[in-house]
Amino acid sequence: MSKLRAWFGGTFDPIHNGHLNCARELATLLDIDNVTLLPNNVPPHRPQPEASARQRVELLKLAIHDDPLFSIDTRELERDTPSWTIDTLTLLRAEVGETTPLAFIIGQDSLLSINRWERWQEILDYCHLIVAQRPGYASQHSDSKVQAWITRHNANVPQLQQQPCGGIFLADTGLYTISATDIRRRLHHGLSCQNLLPDSVIDYIATTGLYRHR
Ligand code: ATP
Repeated sequence: MSKLRAWFGGTFDPIHNGHLNCARELATLLDIDNVTLLPNNVPPHRPQPEASARQRVELLKLAIHDDPLFSIDTRELERDTPSWTIDTLTLLRAEVGETTPLAFIIGQDSLLSINRWERWQEILDYCHLIVAQRPGYASQHSDSKVQAWITRHNANVPQLQQQPCGGIFLADTGLYTISATDIRRRLHHGLSCQNLLPDSVIDYIATTGLYRHR
């Protein structure tokens, strides 16, 4: 049986220590050798990231440069149109083969809006969902049918490692009160982001003036 492989999707505008610390904790807990960061292309009708796609990837590269756990998958940015997560998962499943355990990492806030994702009930046909705790978000879904779906698919560590897909793992990760929205707000106001972002990312943002002006 191949080892569990994980992808972590996000806007990463910018990547921060909440993302990185959760992913590192999950890798230790679940014996994962590689977490692939998957920056999203944001659909035109939604508020656009402040950083360009190129800048968001540059920040990812700087954030992970000294940590072999991480790699970057830019496939969603290389398309002209935004991709649904389910479409990317279909491609990933084809690439890793039918039997490799594959996980998609999300935060608790994303789990609470999972029923707004395209074809959300099919997601578990392709991967496990690993859910990192996030302070300030409810532990239960407000829609009882969605909550029942979450409970029904609850999986433990051996199940994630031995089955290719189908489980939802609510991970007991540390609580990181860090969000990209708050970081951008702090940078707009010239406030320090020490300990919220890797130093290499802070340096790049300071040098380029990214996020300084709205
Ligand atoms: P924003 O504040 O702009 O919404 P964000 O900080 O949530 O941004 P995203 O790039 O949107 O960052 O997040 C990508 C994924 O990482 C999402 O599934 C989100 O739930 C998760 N995530 C982000 N920050 C944390 C955190 N501090 N703890 C746990 N999960 C997180």
